[in-house]
Amino acid sequence: MKKILILIMVVSILTAVVTGCGNPSKENDTGYKVVATTTLVADLVKSIGGEYVNVQGLMGPGVDPHLYKASAGDVKLMQNADMVVYNGLHLEGKMGEIFENIEAGEKVVLAVTQDIDESNFIDFVSSPGSFDPHIWFDVKLWKEAAKTVAEGLKELDEEHTKDFESNLEKYLGELNKLEEYINKRIAEIPEENRVLITAHDAFNYFGNAYGFEVKGLQGISTASEAGTSDVRELAKFIVERKIKAIFVESSVPRKSIEALQEAVKAQGFEVEIGGELYSDSTGDAGTDDETYIGTFKANIDTIIDALK
Ligand SMILES: [Zn+2]
Repeated sequence: MKKILILIMVVSILTAVVTGCGNPSKENDTGYKVVATTTLVADLVKSIGGEYVNVQGLMGPGVDPHLYKASAGDVKLMQNADMVVYNGLHLEGKMGEIFENIEAGEKVVLAVTQDIDESNFIDFVSSPGSFDPHIWFDVKLWKEAAKTVAEGLKELDEEHTKDFESNLEKYLGELNKLEEYINKRIAEIPEENRVLITAHDAFNYFGNAYGFEVKGLQGISTASEAGTSDVRELAKFIVERKIKAIFVESSVPRKSIEALQEAVKAQGFEVEIGGELYSDSTGDAGTDDETYIGTFKANIDTIIDALK
Protein backbone atom coordinates (compact mmCIF):
# COMPACT_ATOMS: atom_id res chain seq x y z
CA MET A 1 0.00 0.00 0.00
CA LYS A 2 2.77 2.39 1.03
CA LYS A 3 4.68 1.56 -2.15
CA ILE A 4 1.63 2.39 -4.26
CA LEU A 5 1.17 5.72 -2.48
CA ILE A 6 4.81 6.62 -3.04
CA LEU A 7 4.48 5.64 -6.68
CA ILE A 8 1.43 7.84 -7.09
CA MET A 9 3.28 10.74 -5.47
CA VAL A 10 6.29 10.29 -7.71
CA VAL A 11 4.09 10.15 -10.79
CA SER A 12 2.20 13.31 -9.78
CA ILE A 13 5.43 15.19 -9.10
CA LEU A 14 6.85 14.08 -12.44
CA THR A 15 3.66 15.12 -14.22
CA ALA A 16 3.76 18.52 -12.54
CA VAL A 17 7.39 18.98 -13.54
CA VAL A 18 6.74 17.99 -17.14
CA THR A 19 3.65 20.20 -17.51
CA GLY A 20 5.38 23.07 -15.74
CA CYS A 21 8.31 22.97 -18.12
CA GLY A 22 6.09 22.36 -21.14
CA ASN A 23 6.60 24.79 -23.97
CA PRO A 24 3.50 27.05 -24.01
CA SER A 25 3.95 27.71 -27.72
CA LYS A 26 4.04 24.00 -28.52
CA GLU A 27 0.97 24.44 -30.68
CA ASN A 28 2.90 26.97 -32.75
CA ASP A 29 5.66 24.49 -33.43
CA THR A 30 3.46 21.93 -35.14
CA GLY A 31 2.23 22.18 -38.70
CA TYR A 32 3.58 24.19 -41.58
CA LYS A 33 3.88 27.92 -41.03
CA VAL A 34 1.47 29.73 -43.33
CA VAL A 35 1.17 33.50 -43.47
CA ALA A 36 -2.11 34.89 -44.85
CA THR A 37 -2.80 38.56 -45.54
CA THR A 38 -6.48 39.20 -44.71
CA THR A 39 -8.74 37.53 -42.15
CA LEU A 40 -10.82 36.07 -45.00
CA VAL A 41 -7.82 34.45 -46.64
CA ALA A 42 -6.56 33.19 -43.26
CA ASP A 43 -9.93 31.57 -42.56
CA LEU A 44 -9.89 29.84 -45.94
CA VAL A 45 -6.43 28.38 -45.34
CA LYS A 46 -7.44 27.16 -41.85
CA SER A 47 -10.59 25.56 -43.25
CA ILE A 48 -8.65 23.46 -45.77
CA GLY A 49 -5.34 23.06 -43.94
CA GLY A 50 -6.86 22.04 -40.61
CA GLU A 51 -4.42 20.65 -38.07
CA TYR A 52 -1.54 20.47 -40.56
CA VAL A 53 -1.09 24.23 -40.79
CA ASN A 54 -0.35 26.99 -38.39
CA VAL A 55 -1.87 30.11 -39.92
CA GLN A 56 -0.73 33.58 -39.02
CA GLY A 57 -2.83 36.45 -40.38
CA LEU A 58 -1.18 39.82 -41.01
CA MET A 59 -4.27 42.04 -40.92
CA GLY A 60 -6.74 41.87 -38.08
CA PRO A 61 -10.54 42.24 -38.36
CA GLY A 62 -11.65 45.66 -39.61
CA VAL A 63 -8.29 46.49 -41.20
CA ASP A 64 -8.48 48.04 -44.69
CA PRO A 65 -6.35 45.90 -47.04
CA HIS A 66 -6.29 48.52 -49.83
CA LEU A 67 -4.26 50.84 -47.61
CA TYR A 68 -2.33 48.30 -45.52
CA LYS A 69 1.44 48.64 -45.57
CA ALA A 70 3.49 45.65 -44.44
CA SER A 71 5.71 46.29 -41.42
CA ALA A 72 9.28 45.01 -41.16
CA GLY A 73 7.89 42.34 -38.83
CA ASP A 74 5.35 41.24 -41.46
CA VAL A 75 8.08 40.89 -44.08
CA LYS A 76 10.15 38.80 -41.70
CA LEU A 77 7.15 36.57 -40.93
CA MET A 78 6.61 36.02 -44.66
CA GLN A 79 10.28 35.30 -45.24
CA ASN A 80 10.26 32.68 -42.48
CA ALA A 81 6.99 31.07 -43.55
CA ASP A 82 6.62 27.80 -45.50
CA MET A 83 3.74 29.28 -47.47
CA VAL A 84 2.33 32.75 -48.11
CA VAL A 85 -1.28 33.20 -49.23
CA TYR A 86 -2.85 36.46 -50.38
CA ASN A 87 -6.02 37.58 -52.18
CA GLY A 88 -4.46 39.12 -55.26
CA LEU A 89 -6.11 41.32 -57.94
CA HIS A 90 -4.32 44.17 -56.15
CA LEU A 91 -6.50 43.95 -53.04
CA GLU A 92 -3.30 44.28 -51.06
CA GLY A 93 -2.49 47.36 -53.13
CA LYS A 94 0.61 48.40 -51.25
CA MET A 95 2.14 44.94 -50.89
CA GLY A 96 2.53 43.75 -54.51
CA GLU A 97 6.30 44.02 -54.72
CA ILE A 98 6.77 42.11 -51.49
CA PHE A 99 4.97 39.06 -52.90
CA GLU A 100 7.11 39.22 -56.04
CA ASN A 101 10.30 39.27 -53.98
CA ILE A 102 9.17 36.41 -51.81
CA GLU A 103 8.11 34.41 -54.86
CA ALA A 104 11.71 34.45 -55.99
CA GLY A 105 12.46 32.14 -53.06
CA GLU A 106 11.66 28.48 -52.39
CA LYS A 107 8.34 28.65 -50.58
CA VAL A 108 4.79 28.19 -51.88
CA VAL A 109 3.35 31.64 -52.62
CA LEU A 110 -0.14 31.91 -54.05
CA ALA A 111 -3.01 34.29 -54.64
CA VAL A 112 -6.39 32.67 -53.95
CA THR A 113 -7.73 34.32 -57.12
CA GLN A 114 -4.96 33.06 -59.43
CA ASP A 115 -6.87 30.15 -61.01
CA ILE A 116 -10.24 31.85 -61.47
CA ASP A 117 -11.08 32.35 -65.14
CA GLU A 118 -10.87 36.05 -66.05
CA SER A 119 -14.35 35.98 -67.56
CA ASN A 120 -15.69 35.86 -63.98
CA PHE A 121 -14.02 39.11 -62.96
CA ILE A 122 -15.66 42.52 -62.87
CA ASP A 123 -13.69 45.40 -64.36
CA PHE A 124 -12.10 47.89 -62.03
CA VAL A 125 -13.74 50.95 -63.58
CA SER A 126 -11.28 53.54 -62.34
CA SER A 127 -8.22 51.51 -63.37
CA PRO A 128 -8.68 49.89 -66.79
CA GLY A 129 -6.96 46.57 -67.27
CA SER A 130 -7.30 45.47 -63.66
CA PHE A 131 -10.16 43.73 -61.88
CA ASP A 132 -12.32 44.27 -58.82
CA PRO A 133 -10.67 42.19 -56.07
CA HIS A 134 -13.72 41.60 -53.81
CA ILE A 135 -14.52 38.15 -55.22
CA TRP A 136 -15.42 36.55 -51.85
CA PHE A 137 -18.90 38.08 -52.06
CA ASP A 138 -19.77 35.53 -54.73
CA VAL A 139 -19.69 32.17 -52.95
CA LYS A 140 -19.23 30.41 -56.29
CA LEU A 141 -15.90 32.22 -56.76
CA TRP A 142 -14.82 31.56 -53.16
CA LYS A 143 -15.24 27.85 -53.94
CA GLU A 144 -12.66 28.28 -56.71
CA ALA A 145 -10.39 30.04 -54.24
CA ALA A 146 -10.79 27.07 -51.86
CA LYS A 147 -9.66 24.68 -54.61
CA THR A 148 -6.58 26.81 -55.28
CA VAL A 149 -5.66 26.79 -51.59
CA ALA A 150 -6.06 23.00 -51.49
CA GLU A 151 -3.69 22.65 -54.47
CA GLY A 152 -1.12 24.87 -52.76
CA LEU A 153 -1.33 22.87 -49.55
CA LYS A 154 -0.82 19.61 -51.45
CA GLU A 155 2.30 21.09 -52.98
CA LEU A 156 3.53 22.10 -49.52
CA ASP A 157 2.69 18.86 -47.72
CA GLU A 158 2.28 16.01 -50.19
CA GLU A 159 1.97 13.47 -47.40
CA HIS A 160 -1.43 14.87 -46.37
CA THR A 161 -2.93 15.17 -49.84
CA LYS A 162 -5.90 12.96 -48.87
CA ASP A 163 -6.64 15.07 -45.79
CA PHE A 164 -6.64 18.30 -47.77
CA GLU A 165 -8.91 16.76 -50.38
CA SER A 166 -11.42 15.59 -47.79
CA ASN A 167 -11.28 18.95 -45.96
CA LEU A 168 -11.95 20.66 -49.29
CA GLU A 169 -14.96 18.42 -50.01
CA LYS A 170 -16.38 19.11 -46.57
CA TYR A 171 -15.83 22.85 -46.93
CA LEU A 172 -17.42 23.00 -50.38
CA GLY A 173 -20.44 21.29 -48.81
CA GLU A 174 -20.60 24.02 -46.15
CA LEU A 175 -20.40 26.67 -48.87
CA ASN A 176 -23.32 25.00 -50.67
CA LYS A 177 -25.33 25.34 -47.47
CA LEU A 178 -24.30 28.99 -47.18
CA GLU A 179 -25.60 29.62 -50.71
CA GLU A 180 -28.91 28.02 -49.79
CA TYR A 181 -29.15 30.28 -46.74
CA ILE A 182 -28.36 33.41 -48.77
CA ASN A 183 -30.97 32.60 -51.41
CA LYS A 184 -33.60 31.75 -48.80
CA ARG A 185 -33.09 35.09 -47.03
CA ILE A 186 -33.08 37.13 -50.27
CA ALA A 187 -36.41 35.58 -51.25
CA GLU A 188 -37.90 37.35 -48.20
CA ILE A 189 -37.73 40.77 -49.89
CA PRO A 190 -39.39 41.93 -53.14
CA GLU A 191 -37.12 42.49 -56.14
CA GLU A 192 -37.55 46.27 -56.16
CA ASN A 193 -36.07 46.40 -52.63
CA ARG A 194 -32.88 44.66 -53.70
CA VAL A 195 -30.67 47.76 -53.78
CA LEU A 196 -27.48 47.87 -51.73
CA ILE A 197 -25.81 51.20 -50.99
CA THR A 198 -22.55 51.14 -49.04
CA ALA A 199 -19.45 53.18 -48.33
CA HIS A 200 -17.18 51.66 -50.99
CA ASP A 201 -17.70 49.39 -53.97
CA ALA A 202 -16.97 46.07 -52.28
CA PHE A 203 -20.28 44.48 -53.19
CA ASN A 204 -20.36 44.30 -56.99
CA TYR A 205 -19.78 40.55 -57.05
CA PHE A 206 -22.53 40.19 -54.46
CA GLY A 207 -24.84 42.23 -56.69
CA ASN A 208 -24.09 40.15 -59.79
CA ALA A 209 -24.39 36.82 -58.04
CA TYR A 210 -27.55 37.49 -56.05
CA GLY A 211 -29.49 40.02 -58.13
CA PHE A 212 -28.88 43.26 -56.22
CA GLU A 213 -28.38 46.70 -57.70
CA VAL A 214 -25.22 47.94 -55.95
CA LYS A 215 -23.96 51.47 -55.49
CA GLY A 216 -20.83 52.39 -53.57
CA LEU A 217 -20.07 55.90 -52.46
CA GLN A 218 -16.33 55.76 -52.65
CA GLY A 219 -15.23 53.78 -55.68
CA ILE A 220 -13.81 50.27 -55.62
CA SER A 221 -10.71 51.05 -53.61
CA THR A 222 -10.94 53.06 -50.42
CA ALA A 223 -7.87 54.98 -51.60
CA SER A 224 -10.00 57.65 -53.31
CA GLU A 225 -12.51 59.73 -51.37
CA ALA A 226 -16.06 60.48 -52.41
CA GLY A 227 -16.64 63.98 -53.81
CA THR A 228 -19.63 66.15 -52.92
CA SER A 229 -21.17 65.65 -56.37
CA ASP A 230 -21.05 61.86 -55.87
CA VAL A 231 -22.87 62.30 -52.57
CA ARG A 232 -25.55 64.52 -54.13
CA GLU A 233 -26.10 62.14 -57.07
CA LEU A 234 -26.47 59.14 -54.84
CA ALA A 235 -28.79 61.03 -52.47
CA LYS A 236 -31.03 61.87 -55.42
CA PHE A 237 -31.14 58.20 -56.41
CA ILE A 238 -32.12 57.19 -52.86
CA VAL A 239 -34.95 59.75 -52.75
CA GLU A 240 -36.28 58.75 -56.18
CA ARG A 241 -36.23 55.04 -55.41
CA LYS A 242 -37.43 55.53 -51.78
CA ILE A 243 -34.63 53.31 -50.51
CA LYS A 244 -35.13 52.31 -46.89
CA ALA A 245 -31.58 51.79 -45.72
CA ILE A 246 -27.92 52.36 -46.52
CA PHE A 247 -25.01 50.59 -44.86
CA VAL A 248 -21.73 51.37 -43.15
CA GLU A 249 -18.76 49.05 -43.50
CA SER A 250 -16.44 47.63 -40.88
CA SER A 251 -13.24 48.71 -42.61
CA VAL A 252 -14.30 52.18 -43.82
CA PRO A 253 -14.91 55.23 -41.56
CA ARG A 254 -18.65 55.81 -41.12
CA LYS A 255 -18.54 59.56 -41.73
CA SER A 256 -18.97 59.25 -45.51
CA ILE A 257 -22.17 57.25 -45.21
CA GLU A 258 -23.45 59.68 -42.56
CA ALA A 259 -22.81 62.54 -45.00
CA LEU A 260 -24.94 60.68 -47.52
CA GLN A 261 -27.73 60.27 -44.97
CA GLU A 262 -27.59 64.05 -44.31
CA ALA A 263 -27.75 64.81 -48.04
CA VAL A 264 -30.85 62.62 -48.36
CA LYS A 265 -32.44 64.49 -45.45
CA ALA A 266 -31.68 67.81 -47.17
CA GLN A 267 -33.75 66.53 -50.11
CA GLY A 268 -36.71 65.85 -47.82
CA PHE A 269 -36.42 62.07 -47.35
CA GLU A 270 -35.32 59.87 -44.47
CA VAL A 271 -33.02 56.93 -45.08
CA GLU A 272 -31.92 54.69 -42.23
CA ILE A 273 -28.44 53.43 -41.58
CA GLY A 274 -29.24 49.75 -41.80
CA GLY A 275 -26.24 48.54 -39.84
CA GLU A 276 -22.62 47.66 -40.36
CA LEU A 277 -21.48 45.25 -43.04
CA TYR A 278 -18.22 43.38 -43.07
CA SER A 279 -16.58 44.30 -46.34
CA ASP A 280 -12.90 43.45 -46.50
CA SER A 281 -12.50 41.35 -43.37
CA THR A 282 -14.31 38.89 -41.12
CA GLY A 283 -15.82 39.81 -37.75
CA ASP A 284 -13.87 39.70 -34.50
CA ALA A 285 -12.10 36.55 -33.35
CA GLY A 286 -14.05 34.61 -30.75
CA THR A 287 -17.47 35.62 -32.19
CA ASP A 288 -19.80 33.77 -34.59
CA ASP A 289 -18.64 36.15 -37.29
CA GLU A 290 -14.96 35.20 -37.17
CA THR A 291 -15.24 32.86 -40.15
CA TYR A 292 -16.02 33.62 -43.79
CA ILE A 293 -19.32 31.75 -43.47
CA GLY A 294 -20.28 33.56 -40.25
CA THR A 295 -19.31 36.90 -41.79
CA PHE A 296 -21.40 36.33 -44.90
CA LYS A 297 -24.42 35.21 -42.83
CA ALA A 298 -24.14 38.30 -40.61
CA ASN A 299 -24.03 40.52 -43.72
CA ILE A 300 -27.02 38.91 -45.39
CA ASP A 301 -29.03 39.13 -42.16
CA THR A 302 -28.16 42.82 -41.75
CA ILE A 303 -29.06 43.60 -45.37
CA ILE A 304 -32.35 41.70 -45.50
CA ASP A 305 -33.56 42.83 -42.06
CA ALA A 306 -33.00 46.50 -43.01
CA LEU A 307 -34.51 46.34 -46.49
CA LYS A 308 -37.54 44.22 -45.57
ZN1 LIG B 1 -12.39 46.79 -50.48
